[in-house]
Amino acid sequence: MTEAEKYERLNEIIAESKKTVFFGGAGVSTESGIPDFRSKNGLYNVRDVQFEQYSPEYLLSIDCLEDNPDVFYEFYRQKLETSGIQPNSAHYKLAEMEKAGKLAGIITQNIDGLHQKAGSVNVAEVHGSTFRNYCMKCGRRYPADYIFRSKTPIPKCTECGGTVRPDVTLYGEMLPEDQLAKADSYMRGAEVLIVGGTSLTVWPAAGYVSRFRGSHLIIINRDPTAYDSAADLVFHESIGQVLGRIRV
Ligand code: ZN
Repeated sequence: MTEAEKYERLNEIIAESKKTVFFGGAGVSTESGIPDFRSKNGLYNVRDVQFEQYSPEYLLSIDCLEDNPDVFYEFYRQKLETSGIQPNSAHYKLAEMEKAGKLAGIITQNIDGLHQKAGSVNVAEVHGSTFRNYCMKCGRRYPADYIFRSKTPIPKCTECGGTVRPDVTLYGEMLPEDQLAKADSYMRGAEVLIVGGTSLTVWPAAGYVSRFRGSHLIIINRDPTAYDSAADLVFHESIGQVLGRIRV
């Protein structure tokens, strides 16, 4: 198949589909300049001097939040502030597809809220989001920038004095039930699954693809994935570039 034929086929598949779902990994956000946690130049490999004694997994764990909150919040504020980062063409295209009735939902492993920023509504964030915060004691919700703007080292609830934490799945925690249920509702009866920006080696990414029972699997990733041979179409290119060629 030539490149032109591949894109023609991609458009045909999406045009004929009654339910299309997008599953995205870190690669969707790296095009906005957000480092991939697992890549060589990603967050986990940039060792900050003051955090040197801790592993990156510990710094983003529930143990760190509970036992060493000063360290947890310092690291979180330094590394996970993404409020100034803008969505890229992939985010915008997906939002446009949803508005046009061509996309039932997005399941994302990213916690940066960029899909909503681009205008998408149906988004299941299976690892939570840095855009939501809540009090660990009374459950009161706090806005996106609350932790980043807090004047105290440990952000506190204005109502009860409890600690305000991000609604992000930390190491040692279960994935959020409500988001998983949302993801399942998107996957139910999906005819087309577009997977972008993930090598599909870690759970839950691999799980969604292996459970997919629809008719067409499309993979967009810079590097080959374990599921390339099972896909109808595979693009080893930028996600923004490939999605950009979908006619809405
Ligand atoms: Zn509270």
